[in-house]
Amino acid sequence: MDAARRLGARGAKIVRAADVVTASWVRWKCQFGCGGFNSSRMCPPHTPTPEQTRRMLDEYSRGILFESPLNMAKKIAVKLERTVFLAGHYKALGLGAGPCELCAECAFDEGCRHPEQARPALEGCGIDVFATARKHGFTIEVVRTHRDAQHYFGLVLIE
Ligand code: SF4
Repeated sequence: MDAARRLGARGAKIVRAADVVTASWVRWKCQFGCGGFNSSRMCPPHTPTPEQTRRMLDEYSRGILFESPLNMAKKIAVKLERTVFLAGHYKALGLGAGPCELCAECAFDEGCRHPEQARPALEGCGIDVFATARKHGFTIEVVRTHRDAQHYFGLVLIE
């Protein structure tokens, strides 16, 4: 938890991978209504489906779920993944929030230009962020106006 906070996370908790919620509707919300759909290799339809993500999660026992400031979730996830990996957790895998913003235009089939930094969002892989965050005591509400608080989450799976 300290490592996540040192990297800028507002809060972090160890969670069971089994308690990370996936759902088919998440993909539908990406496809219908999100401007990020097909904007890069890190968004649907290029990312794993909810079913693939569930199978992947079931190969892990736990992860670090963290809350992040705006535009920081992927940066924190990448650095935390690296920290955890170097500590010996060879399966460490980080996921963030939102579309990829590392390039003005994605390279798509030419291959990712920044594979060391680019990670998909939780929601882009079919994870129900609201349900997962609430299940673990974090606050997250629908943003109705520009004045409403916004909450972003990332996850680093460990083993
Ligand atoms: S880093 Fe660039 S090339 Fe890679 S997924 Fe993101 S936008 Fe596409």
